[in-house]
Amino acid sequence: MKITKVRLGRISVPLRVPFKTALRQVNSVEDIIVEIHTDTGEVGYGEAPPTGAITGDTTGAIIGAFQDHIIKTLVGRDVEDFENLTRDVQKCIVKNSSAKAAADIALWDLYGKRYGIPVYRMLGASRNQIITDLTISVNSPEEMARDAVNAVERGYDTLKVKVGIDPSLDVERLSAIRAAVGDKPRIRIDANQAWSPKQAVKLLNQMQERGLDIELVEQPVKAHDLEGLKYVTDRSYVPVLADESVFSVEDALKIVQLQAADLINIKLMKCGGLTNALKIATLAEVSGVECMIGCMLEAKVSVNAAVHLACARQIITKVDLDGPVLCSEDPVLGGAVFNEKEITVADEPGLGIRGIEGIQYLDD
Ligand code: MG
Repeated sequence: MKITKVRLGRISVPLRVPFKTALRQVNSVEDIIVEIHTDTGEVGYGEAPPTGAITGDTTGAIIGAFQDHIIKTLVGRDVEDFENLTRDVQKCIVKNSSAKAAADIALWDLYGKRYGIPVYRMLGASRNQIITDLTISVNSPEEMARDAVNAVERGYDTLKVKVGIDPSLDVERLSAIRAAVGDKPRIRIDANQAWSPKQAVKLLNQMQERGLDIELVEQPVKAHDLEGLKYVTDRSYVPVLADESVFSVEDALKIVQLQAADLINIKLMKCGGLTNALKIATLAEVSGVECMIGCMLEAKVSVNAAVHLACARQIITKVDLDGPVLCSEDPVLGGAVFNEKEITVADEPGLGIRGIEGIQYLDD
């Protein structure tokens, strides 16, 4: 199965409601779609969201990484040369993890299609269904409490609450949410780097003293501040999950060695796709560190790849793959079925994507 060409396109999927974190506000998913075509007619699909505020990868940068580096690395090569192909994608340009992830995902899709096996089965198939949390955007305490009640009514048993805009309100936000939803729903929070280490310890311990029962806190401090992250991890009652601090496999290794966090959040767009995500999961498993699988605001192509990974690796104990349910429509044919909190992987070769509606191709 030889790679004949790579096509790039754009999709635009409106969100149900605006998505607000300490880093940004977004109203629609505007992603790059990658199709890797082969001489057998099979197509591998990948996706990359431009999340400049997090990865530094803009739409133009993703397109440029493909046009100037990745496409020439792929075209003419045999899909059976899989390990070399995936390695060369990572090597052909530094950084640009989202573009690399899109290429890597499309290669896994093709490899599975080549041998007629779903990727999650190729990797071990520990389960075929996972349960995701739902994100509550950061707003006023009253609005967030309303959104939380709405999420619980939709059946979600775990809420991921965004905090960090005007941190003086954060304890109040969580108090309002806990009072509104009661004791039962699990509440995890994500500060998206907004707090200082001392502020984080103070706020988290205040939340515990008020009995708010926070399951974990994601990325309380700046991504580069591993000492600060460790400071929080050592002093807070709430377990700390590293997100923006862990892009690469090497970052994960450093976190584990320093014991700078209790958990690691794997996102395909940070680490460059399934190939490196598997390495992080294995490293974490060996180190006894549980993982969350997360996504950016992505449509179903790349989130579907994350579903395959989560269904294959038991060390991934927490699932934050609500990108597709935050969208108001789904242009993707095939792949995992997203039914509110329940995500069921598709038992079809590769990643199971059959096509995508409404792609605006760059070469048209
Ligand atoms: Mg996060």
